[in-house]
Amino acid sequence: MNAGLGDDAVRHLQALLKIDTTNPPGNETAAAEYLADLFDAAKLPPVLLGARPERKNVIARLHGSGEKPPLLLSAHLDVVPAEPDQWTHPPFAGEIHDGYLWGRGAIDMKHMAVMSALVLLRLKEEGVSLKRDLIFAGVADEEAGCDDGSRFLVDHHPDKVRAEFALGEAGGFTIYLGGQTIYPIQIAEKGAVWMKLRATGRPGHGSMPRENNAVARIGQAVARLASTRLPQHRTAVVDKYLRAIAATQKFPNSFLLKKLHIRRIADLVLGKLPDKGVAAALAAVLSNTAVPTVLRAGGKINVIPGFAEAEVDGRSLPGQTTADLIAEVRRTIGEDVEIEVLREMPPVEQEAESALWDLMKSALERHHPGAIVVPYLAPGFTDAKSWSRLGCRSYGFMPLRFPDDGTKFGDLYHGHDERIPVEGLKWGVQVLYEVVKAFVT
Ligand SMILES: [Zn+2]
Repeated sequence: MNAGLGDDAVRHLQALLKIDTTNPPGNETAAAEYLADLFDAAKLPPVLLGARPERKNVIARLHGSGEKPPLLLSAHLDVVPAEPDQWTHPPFAGEIHDGYLWGRGAIDMKHMAVMSALVLLRLKEEGVSLKRDLIFAGVADEEAGCDDGSRFLVDHHPDKVRAEFALGEAGGFTIYLGGQTIYPIQIAEKGAVWMKLRATGRPGHGSMPRENNAVARIGQAVARLASTRLPQHRTAVVDKYLRAIAATQKFPNSFLLKKLHIRRIADLVLGKLPDKGVAAALAAVLSNTAVPTVLRAGGKINVIPGFAEAEVDGRSLPGQTTADLIAEVRRTIGEDVEIEVLREMPPVEQEAESALWDLMKSALERHHPGAIVVPYLAPGFTDAKSWSRLGCRSYGFMPLRFPDDGTKFGDLYHGHDERIPVEGLKWGVQVLYEVVKAFVT
């Protein structure tokens, strides 16, 4: 174990968690500057870049011989909002209680920002010669779609972040499932298709019911979407994931997991799973999804409005297009509601296998004996979407060991009481250090 690396990670993460980067509005510059100061102090001059002064990204580069193309370590510095009165300990205080460091961003994903920065600093301090550049990017605005963060960098400063491989969100954390310990590493993520549905109808007085009521029509469309699971599509990454997990389970789970691509079996299994969180996560990687999230209709109780709108968060599987997803939504809600695409981001997909994959896998297995490592498809999006536009292969790998105490990464992610196990963080920075060092030297 590297003396000091773990303690430094705890100390810097505490400091970073005290900097409120809730997005919106973000205000990531203070966090970027905190990290920039660390690089400055180590004579590794960082650059701060951003479209707006309060939303800077920080980039640092440790130069190698150039024999191989760069490796990028990336972490977003913004966090989702927290409701402090729902938390056991305050979300922006960086306090340690019961072996956990508490705070919004503890696992999503300021810990990765700290671990990555420390790995660069440690390799710089060791003075080892690298065969590829090692780049650190602490970026803004991931939680709101990456516009001021990774997307800005890729559009305006591609040479600063271009790499062959990237390590970032999300994966490399412990899941305990049916007596088996699993570390998923993200190799693919779903696309996003954000849509607006609009129904029109005859406006009129609220005292006179009419058949063609826009509010009711949007309500029907939304209700149908919410109660319908869209068709399943088989993808290589999910097949691999399910087969790997199935191999660790007893019959009948071992059999059923392998057959989840069959709709009837999936319906049966998902309906019976006691853990609704697991069921939702599995359902999300078997199909495209379209979830109503925003409703807008009317403004006065005695006026029937002429139109009503809903926003729908659509997510598409690898291999599926925006048109495919819209056709499925159309079949679900019928023809009499307009669909407008507000924004689309294509899915990202790659093979798991590479020299870097082998290093991650063996490091996790070495540091957590008995665990298995599986590739997985993330239902959400990450900065990998932006990096992939530069031809970069991204892995979701922010190593973190959870104790088997019932605390689940999935519950903490965007949840109340977000926290990170202190020992697990120290473990994680060591794992990341070993993987990165082996890959770049
Ligand atoms: Zn995140």
